[in-house]
Amino acid sequence: MQGEFGFPTRFYGERGFKITSPFGPRPDPFNPGKTDFHTGIDYGGRPQGTLVQTTVGGTVFAAKMYGGWGNLVGITDSRGYNHLFAHLQAISVRPGQTVARGDAVGTLGSTGQATGPHLHYQINRPGAGVSGNGYFGDPDRYYFEEEVEEVERAIVLGSDADYCNAAPLRDRLNCPVFFRSALVQLAKVSTIYICGGPIESVREAAPNAKLINLSGSNRFETAAKISSHLASI
Ligand SMILES: [Zn+2]
Repeated sequence: MQGEFGFPTRFYGERGFKITSPFGPRPDPFNPGKTDFHTGIDYGGRPQGTLVQTTVGGTVFAAKMYGGWGNLVGITDSRGYNHLFAHLQAISVRPGQTVARGDAVGTLGSTGQATGPHLHYQINRPGAGVSGNGYFGDPDRYYFEEEVEEVERAIVLGSDADYCNAAPLRDRLNCPVFFRSALVQLAKVSTIYICGGPIESVREAAPNAKLINLSGSNRFETAAKISSHLASI
């Protein structure tokens, strides 16, 4: 990642959008006086009906109205993460369709729970589908496939249950987190932290990497190993 913002904000910035609500805690727009956790980034500043392009290539897995999301498009990328584009006015893709970065997925709208035309862009972890709570973290801190090719360190999880355990290590190392479905992309990474699951398949995917095995026999043991490793670096 380069610059102050990550790829999504640079991508939409180049297209005239600006952040209208960042990722993280914020006053709840629908419950005055309450705090809400914003699980994505809102981009606005363009009129209703402006084309919304995808930040990422992949396969469309969702393209319909989903309650508070309004008209939603979901795209699964090569790492298995799900990119959500919500509150669209119209949808221009179908489930199962393959898209490339920059393809239009629909138009800017304010469908669902929205106070005005904006794009809510969220990245969900593999397996989390369209769940509001399945978020990866700040989309501007996500490593897209071509950025992964340049990283020296990476974390591998056993399953989604290891995600929270590994988050402090991810924040310390500032590196991408891999689920088992995308081990093939680890070939050039030089140091890999295994935070769940077996070591053998990781060694096969990245035979030249230095492997730091923090996997325990269950997720509690893994959490303890990660904490003691964090204390030692
Ligand atoms: Zn939002």
